[in-house]
Amino acid sequence: MLKERFAKKYIVKIDFGKVSRTVAMPFEYGIDGCTFSGTLQKVSRNEVELISKIEGKTTHYCDRCGKSYDETLDIELKLQLSDIPISGNDSLDSVEFLDGMIDIDELLHSELESIKTTYNYCPECKDDNSTLEVEY
Ligand SMILES: [Zn+2]
Repeated sequence: MLKERFAKKYIVKIDFGKVSRTVAMPFEYGIDGCTFSGTLQKVSRNEVELISKIEGKTTHYCDRCGKSYDETLDIELKLQLSDIPISGNDSLDSVEFLDGMIDIDELLHSELESIKTTYNYCPECKDDNSTLEVEY
């Protein structure tokens, strides 16, 4: 049951130094009906590779008709995490954690935020290819 899973105590911050180079470290975290799970593995002294999945549901408000609707999430997310400033960091796929702690909660929140700005039409409006205003 989902409820049971969310009642588990999650590790929200992971020490950079504890991530192994040889064995991928699994993690699982959940908020607001979403689970964020995957593995962390060091690829170099200051770099950790995160391979993960975000699954669940999130509520959006349609930009067109204003109705709220549930979006089912099934997203593969691969990120490079660094505990030093990344030079020329213009990639959306790299995240800095300068205090040496990987903040799983922050990663999930920022990912959900970016999803919310991407998917902004409810299923009805998505299917509606006409340019007419929706009456409600
Ligand atoms: Zn809509």
